[in-house]
Amino acid sequence: LPICTAIAALLISFIGILLLVINTEEIKGQAQLMYGIILDAGSSHTSMFIYKWPADKENGTGIVSQHSECHVKGGGISSYAGNKGGAANSLEECMEKAMQEIPKSRHKLTPVYLGATAGMRLLNISKPKESDEILKEVADKLKTYPFSFKGATILSGQEEGAYGWVTVNYLLEKFITYGFVGHWLSPGRDTAGALDLGGASTQITFETKQTVENKDNLMKLRLYGRDYQIYTQSFLCYGRNQVLFRLLALLMKTQGSDRSIVHPCYPAGYSDSVKLSSVFDTPCNERQSHYKPEDVLQIKGTGNYDQCLGNVSRLFSFNNCSYSRCSFDGVFQPNITGNFMAFSAFFYTHSFLQKAAGITITSPADLKDAIRVVCNMSFQEMQNTFPDEGNHLGDYCADSILLQVLLINRYGFNDLSFPRISFREKAEDTSVGWSLGYMLSLSNLLPAENVLVRKTLLP
Ligand code: AMP
Repeated sequence: LPICTAIAALLISFIGILLLVINTEEIKGQAQLMYGIILDAGSSHTSMFIYKWPADKENGTGIVSQHSECHVKGGGISSYAGNKGGAANSLEECMEKAMQEIPKSRHKLTPVYLGATAGMRLLNISKPKESDEILKEVADKLKTYPFSFKGATILSGQEEGAYGWVTVNYLLEKFITYGFVGHWLSPGRDTAGALDLGGASTQITFETKQTVENKDNLMKLRLYGRDYQIYTQSFLCYGRNQVLFRLLALLMKTQGSDRSIVHPCYPAGYSDSVKLSSVFDTPCNERQSHYKPEDVLQIKGTGNYDQCLGNVSRLFSFNNCSYSRCSFDGVFQPNITGNFMAFSAFFYTHSFLQKAAGITITSPADLKDAIRVVCNMSFQEMQNTFPDEGNHLGDYCADSILLQVLLINRYGFNDLSFPRISFREKAEDTSVGWSLGYMLSLSNLLPAENVLVRKTLLP
């Protein structure tokens, strides 16, 4: 019996030690990770991204990765104008998820940033008081969580473009890379440009050696001991949703009716009706004098590629370029150079085009062929072939033509440069957008000086 007791006691202490080891390993594992939260408050919806990185290795690129994302239900925060508390409450579900996903011991150390983009830029133009109220109420809501709240702000177009570029190049390890010999190396590689198509604005950002003739387009960044000269431009009112509203206003004007129009960018067999208030409640559309917000506009699709191209092209102006070269609307742009990553609605549209046309698009000619296929499909045909596409289906012809006009006819991508665009939603399991670059920059995770130098100076 004493032997049995001794064995049992030994076994119990062994299990105890084992549990202790497992537990401390777990705590150590958790303690080594840091987290950061970004709320990307876009015009059509808000996404929450949680990022993570090892606490002791903050300086390398590729170190910060996406832990998870959460899509807030309902519209963007700007859609809650006049609905007190609505924007703040919409964030609750995702914030509760963040509470569960981030270890409690890390809550206080986790920064939270909310960045709003073109939807709030527009509201700030049309109703600045309501935009301030929304920002204040979302800030107040975020402060109620145990995280470290760092601010709720509207990003400028330049910031949105530049942070998107930082994200792309961080994920592609263009700034610094971990070499075979176990040291961080500066790869000295050319960076990639960033193309972002949102709901209310679109951004183009790339490194250039040419003179940037308008200083508003110039960003100078020093990252990991290297200087970068970046060209960036954000076009407000050229996001896909605003372009759709602008198209409706243009067609009403050219067809002389605010009751019913035929729409060449919607597929044949498609019909819809919209309240005029939704078309004109944006600074992107000029209100007509006889405008009645409650009136309803009937829309009938005709799916005509050439007419759609003609109408979308009319939304861009070619007059008044006071620089050596302009993309459109009098905006300076240097020549396109290098590789590019195209994301958000550029990605959604491009991937639908490839799927619908059944081809890999490798040239502007392929792109046009695929768009013709999509614009020629009837709505019924589209619904039968792509039953899971949901409410975006009717918009793809318009979206595709917007993509074509922007990239080929206005930015100037051609047979040589177009194949150098990679259309991506994610890279390294991380969503591509401005939010990672924003967090890296604001949390000082991107050193201005070379980490190689810094490391040799450190004990
Ligand atoms: P986001 O990058 O998520 O802010 O979206 C940019 C724009 O793309 C918004 O106008 C969305 O409505 C639209 N969008 C989101 N998902 C899709 C999709 N699967 N297909 C087409 N458009 C989309």
